[in-house]
Amino acid sequence: MLTVSDDLIRSVVKDVLSHMKRPPVANGKPASGHSGVFDDVNEAVAAASAAQKKFETMGLAERRKAVDCVRKICIDRAEELGRDELEETKIGRLAHKIDKLIVAGGKTPGVEWLETRAFSGENGVTLEEFAPFGVVGIITPVTHSLPTLAGNAINILAAGNALVCNPHPSGARIATKGTQLFNQAISKAIGLDNLITIIGKPTLESAQAIFDNRDVRLLCVTGGPAVGRAALRSPKRAIVAGPGNPPVVVDETADLDNAARCIVQGGAYDNNLLCIGEKEVFAVAAIFDELMETMTRHKAVRLDAGQIAKLSSAAFVKGEGGKLMVNKDLIGQDAAVLAKHAGLNVPGDTELVFGETEESHPFVDQEQMMPFVPFVRVPNVDTAIALAKKYEHGFKHTAIIHSRNVETITRMGREMDVTLFVQNGPCMAALGSGGEGYLSFSIATPTGEGVTTPLTFTRVRRTTTVGALRVV
Ligand code: NAD
Repeated sequence: MLTVSDDLIRSVVKDVLSHMKRPPVANGKPASGHSGVFDDVNEAVAAASAAQKKFETMGLAERRKAVDCVRKICIDRAEELGRDELEETKIGRLAHKIDKLIVAGGKTPGVEWLETRAFSGENGVTLEEFAPFGVVGIITPVTHSLPTLAGNAINILAAGNALVCNPHPSGARIATKGTQLFNQAISKAIGLDNLITIIGKPTLESAQAIFDNRDVRLLCVTGGPAVGRAALRSPKRAIVAGPGNPPVVVDETADLDNAARCIVQGGAYDNNLLCIGEKEVFAVAAIFDELMETMTRHKAVRLDAGQIAKLSSAAFVKGEGGKLMVNKDLIGQDAAVLAKHAGLNVPGDTELVFGETEESHPFVDQEQMMPFVPFVRVPNVDTAIALAKKYEHGFKHTAIIHSRNVETITRMGREMDVTLFVQNGPCMAALGSGGEGYLSFSIATPTGEGVTTPLTFTRVRRTTTVGALRVV
């Protein structure tokens, strides 16, 4: 029999109270102390807007401090947060979840990007400066929930804005935890809460409410085609980081060992969840067999036609109108799991499975987001480039080539017309990992802003002094 003591009652009451939320809006004003987490979009936007108004007056040093809070948490707590993200989303690989947080914290551009432009001459001086918009609405994907939120937050805060996030429902817990940690640190550093706000239980309706809220001045959405279309239907400006299906071309001049190593590295990274990840290879016949052989020296296991057929029947399901769609259950799973579906046991540390397919195979056509990469044999590099263009589907996202022929590289770069074009490296080189440059997990493709930076989230304002202030 249960005996109810005073202590037990006290502890139950304490527990219940600790789970109750304080009313988010008191006397029409947002209450502080939420660490950014809200149920209601209007309340989240009101809180972010109130915080942003103060933030805007604070100056660049305070902005830098706020941004540094986000950076530091991403880097110092990468292991814990990466583990949490994997546990919740159940897709990808722990080492890369951790890596993504470290690079998001370390390589996303911040306040230093806000360099005033100056024009000086006999008529005086003109300055162009980068001003904030106010509150930016962001939508984040399940493939990199916290890294996308963190990178967006660094860019958006550096530009002097606040943000409201509708995360993917399957990555909402980690995004919420990150938001709370960021706000608590920012609050301690500069005395402002709710610069980063999030909808704790996100739905399509809450995303739409962000699109429709008049105080949200700008949208940044990262995800597949549906969310891009939804954001572009909104009357406000949208920065859309849309889907990709990055092709790789390998010609007869390529360093095959480097090509194989890079395809494995990029295609296996976080089990091929990256939108920039190597998704299909078009290799010329002259080197095709040697390239396939070389892949197996880099912890990739080749599947034969029967095994690919078995894997395909698990990896794709029929959607509307009988159209094949990627089976979500296999997205971001380990290569060894895919091999099992193909009827094969492979060592647990296998990075990638791969095999030869026809051009028309769904693994070529679809953005599979799993560590199986199809290789298509083509007669020459012209065909390879033409097929790369066809299966990139006009997303204008990412393409990769392995070649030592500068003329071929240049031609492919021109024909593909993509946002990121990588030569002789893995996809991540385009985001500063193993290549030069900076990073963001929101690469704006259809709307053209490219790899997002603080400048993406600013208004350009000009001030002109006539006939004075030029002192030279
Ligand atoms: P997804 O499209 O399923 O979801 C992305 C986000 O959009 C989620 O928050 C989801 O809840 C929301 N969403 C989906 N449909 C919506 C609608 N109609 N209205 C409002 N919100 C909606 O994508 P995912 O599986 O989370 O992420 C993978 C996709 O994102 C891939 O296609 C990948 O290429 C793309 N991606 C692109 C970039 C980039 O920088 N360009 C970066 C990461 C991922």
